[in-house]
Amino acid sequence: MPPQNPHITIIGSLNIDFVTATPRCPGPGETLTATSLSVLAGGKGGNQAVAAGRASYTSKEKQDVTVSMIGSVGADDPYYTTLLQPALEKSGVNTGSIEQSVTAQTGSASIIVEEGSGENRILVVPGANHGGLMGDVDGIVRVTQRSEVVVLQGEIPRETTVGLLEYFNGKTGSGEARVVFNPAPVFPEGIPLSALHGTAVLIMNETEVVQMARSIAGLPVLGDVCVDEDQFDPAEFAGKFHEMAGVEVVLITLGAKGVYFSTRAGKCGTVAGVKVAQVIDTTAAGDTFVGYFSTAVARFLATGKGLDEFEEIEQAVSVANAAAAMCVQRRGAMQSIPFAYDME
Ligand code: ATP
Repeated sequence: MPPQNPHITIIGSLNIDFVTATPRCPGPGETLTATSLSVLAGGKGGNQAVAAGRASYTSKEKQDVTVSMIGSVGADDPYYTTLLQPALEKSGVNTGSIEQSVTAQTGSASIIVEEGSGENRILVVPGANHGGLMGDVDGIVRVTQRSEVVVLQGEIPRETTVGLLEYFNGKTGSGEARVVFNPAPVFPEGIPLSALHGTAVLIMNETEVVQMARSIAGLPVLGDVCVDEDQFDPAEFAGKFHEMAGVEVVLITLGAKGVYFSTRAGKCGTVAGVKVAQVIDTTAAGDTFVGYFSTAVARFLATGKGLDEFEEIEQAVSVANAAAAMCVQRRGAMQSIPFAYDME
């Protein structure tokens, strides 16, 4: 039998984004004529699955990593069949474990973008992302195929996320699949330190790392850290997550400044941001980074080595950083994520 590809399973949210562009936002009771409405596939889980799928296309014909998505959408939702499912499948993502819920609608985000300032206002209805399968840890575990890596974010219920962390980090399950956790958005109630323990990779932006540190009971030292731009020290935060939360790899994305990486085994550094001619739209830059890096982790773990031997980490961060930089030069979310064969 030919060797199997490494496998990544993304467990998370799927949304339809309704994006209205307008010269200005209406006030209370006011009706305005806006410029345009775009209906787009989105959700952090979906974006990261698309990014992992596209990262796995080493050529137009061949994927070297198998990517599956577990999520939940409304039954018979035409937006799912015409937008989300094709976007995922054309990016090489298996959609067979996406539940079509009869009790909940597909999650949605209504986004108003003010044209002049680029400022946005967003209303999210979680819908199926917070119901049915997404509220059922055992159900999710049952449909998860053997995987090197499972990727989790913060757009499904906190209880499910904690349950999945406990299962895949080996507290209640075998711990065979390793967890890449992107706590975005950060749950206000926090994550118990014991559930986080054993996480393979924790990926946060500068805001999330501070919120995570503050929200985790057991990281008191960081709770009081003064975080102004000049004093922000990613190494200090990463160190706490290694020591106190037993996280193997901590990655802190720094926007245009790039990415700080650190391993429990002692490798650390900053990969500088790629200088781009013009930033068009940063939506999904973080998700692109998570999907690309997760793919590299799956490839590495498939060699049978542990993350303490991940000598190639800097290279993996650089590739994901470059993919995210391509994303910011294109408009939109999923459509702005590059395929690996386009990266040269
Ligand atoms: P978003 O919410 O916009 O998707 P984020 O807040 O989760 O992103 P950031 O740290 O802002 O995360 O960006 C993620 C990564 O995207 C960065 O680490 C970098 O690799 C890339 N990136 C973001 N902004 C820029 C930029 N202006 N120039 C080059 N690369 C960028």
